[in-house]
Amino acid sequence: MRQDQEDPYQRRSARVYAGAGRVGRGPAAPPAGVLYDAVLLDRDGTLIEDVPYNGDPEKVRPLPGVRAALDRLRAAGLRLAVVTNQSGLARGYFDEEQMRAVHARVEELLGGFDAWLVCPHDDADGCDCRKPSPGLVHAAARELGTSASRCVLVGDIGRDVGAALAAGAAGVLVPTPVTRPEEIAAAGWVATDLPSAVDEILRRQRAVRPTRTAHGVGTALVVRSDSAGDVLVTGPAIRAVAAGARRVVLLCGPRGRAAAEMLPGVDEIIEHPLPWIDPAPTPVDPDDMRRLTARIAAVGADEAVVFTSFHQSALPLALLLRMAGITRIAAISDDYPGALVDIRHRVPVGVPEPERALSLAAAAGHRLPAGDEPVLRLRDDAVASRPAAVGDPGYVVLHPGSAASSRACPTELAARIAGALSAAGHRVLVTGGPDERTVTARVAAAGGTDLGGTTDLAGLAALVADAAAVVVGNTGPAHLAAAAGVPVVSLFAPTVPFGQWGPYRVPTVRLGDASAPCRDTRAASCPVPGHPCLSGVDPAEVVEAVRTLTASGGGVR
Ligand SMILES: [Zn+2]
Repeated sequence: MRQDQEDPYQRRSARVYAGAGRVGRGPAAPPAGVLYDAVLLDRDGTLIEDVPYNGDPEKVRPLPGVRAALDRLRAAGLRLAVVTNQSGLARGYFDEEQMRAVHARVEELLGGFDAWLVCPHDDADGCDCRKPSPGLVHAAARELGTSASRCVLVGDIGRDVGAALAAGAAGVLVPTPVTRPEEIAAAGWVATDLPSAVDEILRRQRAVRPTRTAHGVGTALVVRSDSAGDVLVTGPAIRAVAAGARRVVLLCGPRGRAAAEMLPGVDEIIEHPLPWIDPAPTPVDPDDMRRLTARIAAVGADEAVVFTSFHQSALPLALLLRMAGITRIAAISDDYPGALVDIRHRVPVGVPEPERALSLAAAAGHRLPAGDEPVLRLRDDAVASRPAAVGDPGYVVLHPGSAASSRACPTELAARIAGALSAAGHRVLVTGGPDERTVTARVAAAGGTDLGGTTDLAGLAALVADAAAVVVGNTGPAHLAAAAGVPVVSLFAPTVPFGQWGPYRVPTVRLGDASAPCRDTRAASCPVPGHPCLSGVDPAEVVEAVRTLTASGGGVR
């Protein structure tokens, strides 16, 4: 075992130990269409019974089913590392040698791990590795020859999930009786125990791998209606389809058009509102539907893949596609689709939207090619250049608004956040659409530069790409940040599940009350007086989140 005794940063960084499972394993070239190549595991309360400050190997007791679950991960080719806070070292409750004896016993009972990452500090040490700081996750990814975004961490408390998200990894909470209810509410992915977490990790991994390959697709019609955010999170799936087709035509709505223009892999765009999807639909006009059907028929698509969110139906469009002569249609539908769909796909609730869409593409025979990570991306040539007037990169973008007011940051709070960030030494750029200028002006007056209404989506993408961090609700710019690999402080109203709509594979800190009464209501305007899910956020938490996310070098790409 190796320990970085000479590391000058040891006082503040993780201790790294090789594990018994490491023999003969070097960095892997990620195979095509794979979500994860490593699983990181919390130790106490996740792998073994939590015996506080245990330095005695005799007291190591594996939790039920853990050995078999780990062996399933090993058999699937996933690397395993333990990431554990052991403040008992800092407090002198046990020493290094005792801890190593405990870890040897864990490996004797549970099999070898590829690496052990230990934070030996206490909260007071201000280190970068004590969970929920992301240091242990970054260190684990480095040791395993992968990136944090290709890791999933399983742990039993909010600190574990927080560390995972802050590093841009996925985090699964496996609650125990000591896990606090608010930690369970805030987690985007919850499993009853480690074995069920492993089942779901392997299921999600399999779901993006096609069991058949689509051959000879000339033209594929892909569909994603609704807003910019919806279109952006479908990007990886559209790239997967594009990898297997000569030409890709995207049907989107007017509110998603600007985002569609920025997606790699799209050759042509058809813009048309769909009255069964749009939040403020106009009445169905039979002539208009006939025009749309004719327009689709003119595409001459060999297949269609209809992407939807979990509360939207693909079936009305599938009928039009059939009438347009398309003979191969893939869609997610829990409702019986009859003769409308050839590849009917179903997805459990809670899967991130980008993976949900990727799994539909896989069901249709498409996957991302090797080298194309399952992350949000924009076309290089689609992002406008950043206005020189905003100065050097490294500012914080604060975007208070949202098309759905239930997901917007209250103006008064956004102003206090702008003030707190400015006071902490950040340059703050306040962004918003043309109809949000009153809000951005009020917010920027408290500390920042008002850019409300000055950019289109491509311009906003350029601003976001050079930010150190973006502070934003659950709305389009959060996904622009994810696409640029820029960390997000997510002021997330729980009207829709965080696990499905949280910023994808980008370092994130979630703030706000996840168990507020608006939870899972899908409300467009807040149904609860005072907008309590977000109004309770303390601006100091935002400043601290920006510090956490930028301390370890900021963005991931
Ligand atoms: Zn530490």
